[in-house]
Amino acid sequence: MSNATAANPSTASTSYPDVQLFIAGQWRGGRAGETLRVLNPATDAVIGSVAVARKPDLDEALEAAAKGFEVWRKTPAAERAKVMREAARLVRERAEAIARLMTLEQGKPLAEAKAEVLFAVEIIEWFADEGRRVYGRIAPPRGAGQWLQVYKEPVGPVAAFTPWNFPINQVVRKLSAALATGCSFIVKAPEETPASPAELVRAFADAGVPAGVVNLVYGHPAEISEYLIPHPVIRKITFTGSTPVGKQLAALAGAHMKRVTMELGGHAPVIVAEDCDVERAAKIAALAKVRNAGQGCISPTRFLVANSVRKAFVDGLVANTRAVKVGSGLEKDTGMGPLANPRRLAAMQRLTADAVQRGATVATGGERLGATGNFFAPTVLVDVSRDSLVFNEEPFGPVAAVWGFDKLDDAIAEANRLPYGLASYAFTGSLKTAQQLAENLQTGMLWINQPAAPWPEMPFGGIKDSGYGSEGGPEALEAYLNTKSVSTLCV
Ligand code: NAD
Repeated sequence: MSNATAANPSTASTSYPDVQLFIAGQWRGGRAGETLRVLNPATDAVIGSVAVARKPDLDEALEAAAKGFEVWRKTPAAERAKVMREAARLVRERAEAIARLMTLEQGKPLAEAKAEVLFAVEIIEWFADEGRRVYGRIAPPRGAGQWLQVYKEPVGPVAAFTPWNFPINQVVRKLSAALATGCSFIVKAPEETPASPAELVRAFADAGVPAGVVNLVYGHPAEISEYLIPHPVIRKITFTGSTPVGKQLAALAGAHMKRVTMELGGHAPVIVAEDCDVERAAKIAALAKVRNAGQGCISPTRFLVANSVRKAFVDGLVANTRAVKVGSGLEKDTGMGPLANPRRLAAMQRLTADAVQRGATVATGGERLGATGNFFAPTVLVDVSRDSLVFNEEPFGPVAAVWGFDKLDDAIAEANRLPYGLASYAFTGSLKTAQQLAENLQTGMLWINQPAAPWPEMPFGGIKDSGYGSEGGPEALEAYLNTKSVSTLCV
């Protein structure tokens, strides 16, 4: 593993825009002229700025979304699908440039950024097609001349709030489901990584989404959410971020009786059973851990390993982790970039120090790399006490914590111990064990013998403190639909 270096000047000289708001079909700055700085997490350099929306801008966005809704809900589903497919085509065509912006602002390796952009294409296309299958239904009549119909209608203008870890993916699931069902949309995208989500919105605008249907704002998150959520124009709230913020926003939405989807924090257990292919499990787990520098709600965190294979698994995990090159995401062979912001760097240092103080051993990593940028070495902690912070608080960084178990029931109990219930992973050669885990883990998603595969056709979401609602599969469209029951007697 090499030490992190500042971005190579030959690859770093990339222009970065001053990112604007998109309201009522216009790209523009905030009316008050306020902006925030955008930093490159690999170099600490200021690379650009992002416009700030205040209340007058939000009022314009709300008015636009209300008008846009009237246009879009009346646009036939097949026509909406055409526009969405054109947006997908534009995103694919622009993938290289968008990925580069994402790496500059978020830090992830270029290959990961490009994969995120191309996955967005797949998501848009799937939702475009699924939107054509929102059928409603007809129930059998109770008597002659009776007609019992169930209508599915778009819920209305949506307010979405998305974070910086997957700047495009977090927007595109919400945006695609909203547009496919005929809703209009205001998104407060992340101020720390604003350019790539702006390019996503640009693709929809260029594809012909009518003015007002999609609106993009940035600013002061609490000010924007406190204004948009209670506003009568807004009928649906969707948020991805931390559990504490999600609870606040859900409470506000509840007070105003708004529909809500909450995709919140996780603390994914990885159960490594003694009958698995340990070498393969260690390789998959290490790569999953360093993906996006561990800054994912579905990132594997608690590694619960059968004691009989613990040494072999840890050896494999450490070897695969050490093989990951850490550096600027713009460099070709980089396997893991910097953390996206200094808050995560400080959190990794705090969690590692706490675990060690409670008896854990650092098998690899455990420290900041270099003095520039937010680089932290991919870390494996072993003999971690379950009262350590890292075993209880969502790490959201490249730290794997290992704990050994003797009985599968103990691993299941540990997996279910935390209030989170988002993603889980397991490695086993036994169908019986796989079934036992599927039936007993309190989780929204379970991946067995494989890394995360959040395909658009599969539900994506959590239970317990990880939130509610789904951002994948037909359930994701249902979240943007009202059900209307119409009974007609033909007299
Ligand atoms: P944070 O909790 O302040 O912010 C998380 C996200 O919520 C950010 O995008 C932020 O802009 C937004 N946010 C915060 N307050 C808001 C408000 N009042 N209204 C609307 N949006 C608001 O902290 P952070 O340092 O950015 O991230 C820290 C933690 O957040 C992480 O440790 C992780 O647990 C969680 N997180 C989760 C996800 C996810 O994918 N579920 C993504 C990013 C962060």
